[in-house]
Amino acid sequence: MSAGELIFLVWNDLVGISRTRGVPVAEYERRKQHGLGWALAGQSMTPFEDLADNPWGPMDEVRQTPDDETRRRLVLRPDFPPLHLALCDSLNLDGSPWECCTRSFLGSALADFKAETGLDLHIAYENEFALFAEELGWAAPFSLDAVRRIAPFADLCVAALIDAGLGLETFEPEYGVGQFEITCGPAAGLAGADRVVLTREVVREAARQSGLRATFTPKPAPDAVGNGCHLHLSFRDAEGRPAAFDAEGPGELSEVAARFCAGVQRHVAALCAVTAPSPISYLRLGPHHWSCGYDIVGVQNREAAVRICPSPAADPAERGEAFNIEIRFTDATASPYLAIGAIVRAGLQGIRDGLPCPTLVDGEPDDMSEDERKERGINRLPTSLEEALDAFGKDERVTGWFTPTMVQAYTALKRHEVRLYAESRPQHMCQRYMQVY
Ligand code: GLU
Ligand code: MG
Repeated sequence: MSAGELIFLVWNDLVGISRTRGVPVAEYERRKQHGLGWALAGQSMTPFEDLADNPWGPMDEVRQTPDDETRRRLVLRPDFPPLHLALCDSLNLDGSPWECCTRSFLGSALADFKAETGLDLHIAYENEFALFAEELGWAAPFSLDAVRRIAPFADLCVAALIDAGLGLETFEPEYGVGQFEITCGPAAGLAGADRVVLTREVVREAARQSGLRATFTPKPAPDAVGNGCHLHLSFRDAEGRPAAFDAEGPGELSEVAARFCAGVQRHVAALCAVTAPSPISYLRLGPHHWSCGYDIVGVQNREAAVRICPSPAADPAERGEAFNIEIRFTDATASPYLAIGAIVRAGLQGIRDGLPCPTLVDGEPDDMSEDERKERGINRLPTSLEEALDAFGKDERVTGWFTPTMVQAYTALKRHEVRLYAESRPQHMCQRYMQVY
């Protein structure tokens, strides 16, 4: 090991960027208990160079404190320094979670979910991304050619994902130019969200070490195929049995899962401010993109905001195992911790309120007449970040899941991004987001 090797303490902030400070390996043990300091106002950095209005100014700091469980040392190419990192919680000086810590926000939502339902929540993600380099050129969607052109990258990336224990399931070409997808299996609780952050960083690193760049941005260009990152949720009871499935339920949803979906549906407009939180997210969200444009829940419906994913198994006893609920209105400009935390809070609220199962919708709501949509209670998702932020501000249940300081800081940050976008052309903004995400 080189004496120059660094361990990066990484935290995923309000705009979903992995920010970091590094320590030499020999210093890590001494540093890990209290972590490293970071100015509170750092949480109000936009994805670009500027700082949004914030409640803190130059005062005070949090301790970015690594969770040793998340530490990974990954050697990709032998001639390149290893990627050595650990994910952090942002803690107050007394060791309690800071009110604007994204990871702690998810941790508390999961703890409440478990306490109130007795269930564990399992999380899996699909990670769509695009590789870009001039020489890649065009290849047919989903083709073997598309993926064999980048075989050295794929090999490096897959080996590192396996080494990191991130539950890699598939690596495949997607529909867009240079677009690929990696799916990871479910993991319980916080570890599922940690996997998302780590998977993205491993993919970026493998691209760097292959002379490429990888982007998870929701829209590489206004007319490009979007990158989603669909979130798959399932529940397990204390004995480890699947609890989101009921062969007799509507769409095979158990009662608790149906209520969860109804809670997500009820708050979807406000949730978008957290799950699709950049101006360019709304170039991706919309009908006919297989992303989703309406607030519907449907079985195997790729135009639905919430897709119910049945199991391929025929045996009813096995059908619960792979059964899960997919949330499609999420993209990689969101912090996975915030996005999942908010979804869990919305679902839990639906359970608390005993909401009835949503009407399950087949087909494309955009092909229905306006009257039919009205009759069926189908609503368009927000069409801009501004609209989503307005819905967020008006939904007191949703803002109540955050502290007032967090609502203030988050809203100011996102309104700042709206302004930046309004002053520029979509093409230019897509390029800027692509450089960051
Ligand atoms: N790329 C689509 C999206 O933006 C998803 C396509 C799929 O279903 O995999 O969400
Ligand atoms: Mg896909």
